[in-house]
Amino acid sequence: MEYDREEARKRAARRRAAAKRKKLRRRRLMVLGTGALLILLLLIGGVMLLVRAAGRHRQANALEVTATATVQPTSLPTDAPTTGPTAVPATPVPAIQADWYYERTEQLRHNLSTFGNYQDAAALYAALERMQIDPNGKMLALTFDDGPYSPITEQVLDVLEENQARATFFVKGAYIDANKDLVARELGLGCEIGNHTTNHEDLEKLSPTERRATVKDLNDKIYQLYGYRVHLLRPPYISYGKKGSADREDIVAMATEFNLAIINHTRSSHDSHEEYTAQMMIDRILSEKDELGRGLNGSILLFHDKYQKTVEAIKVIIPALQQQGYQLVTVSELLNCSSEGLHYGWIYSKAD
Ligand SMILES: [Zn+2]
Repeated sequence: MEYDREEARKRAARRRAAAKRKKLRRRRLMVLGTGALLILLLLIGGVMLLVRAAGRHRQANALEVTATATVQPTSLPTDAPTTGPTAVPATPVPAIQADWYYERTEQLRHNLSTFGNYQDAAALYAALERMQIDPNGKMLALTFDDGPYSPITEQVLDVLEENQARATFFVKGAYIDANKDLVARELGLGCEIGNHTTNHEDLEKLSPTERRATVKDLNDKIYQLYGYRVHLLRPPYISYGKKGSADREDIVAMATEFNLAIINHTRSSHDSHEEYTAQMMIDRILSEKDELGRGLNGSILLFHDKYQKTVEAIKVIIPALQQQGYQLVTVSELLNCSSEGLHYGWIYSKAD
């Protein structure tokens, strides 16, 4: 009996000791687990802080002021190399600080990289930098109607490319299928594409339904082919209904529905006039004032990329305008830089 009791006591003591060891082990495991979890959480937190700090750094770079009061830099193109043989300068691209300008630069970056012919990222970056706008500087917009029309459109684009100039092309939908690469080249050079209807229709003579069809078909076609959204409409024959008429009201309503600004012009080169020579076009466009006394700054100049003489004239006109300090911007850029701004459904013949 004595022995059994002793044995039972020892067994109980062993059980208690084993239970205690088990409890200790469990506690140690819990401590270890909690520690590991804490370390993991700290690591995740650290990484998140680093990422956020990097983002802030990028943002700070993007907002750093280096130019004049109203001109501010935007961020570097994300694909621009910063090291290696094709390294680009770390200076930010100067830019206007506005939503439209940010979107415009992103669209340009996309068009240049998708349709342009740039050797590498550095060349693309340099081209984008050349396309920056000084909103306080003089500017005007060259526009070309009725293309794409081979071989004149190629020649117009050659002149633009040689002079690192840009323009706006109001294209005719029916011509695009045979000249898809020309519109692509226009986009690749940083030009803007506007709507000149599918078959060069006189909008005033069409019913509201027909008007919408010819304009929308072309907008859709350009979007399907190039992923590009058109925001300008130049009605053929500058025909958009007399002021106060039902036609005018409907055409303006249509433009508003389709997010289009209606674009007239300030000065026509008169290249569609048979008797007009290249020299007459040059003199007319480069004259200080037009017949209404308006200067060149803020003007929208009208040409057609379908006449040989137009090519000859712009070979003189473009460098002359650049020498006078004019920035040759697109119509959307010109209007967005004006105090009025660009509004869908508005009619413009000049930037005010
Ligand atoms: Zn036309």
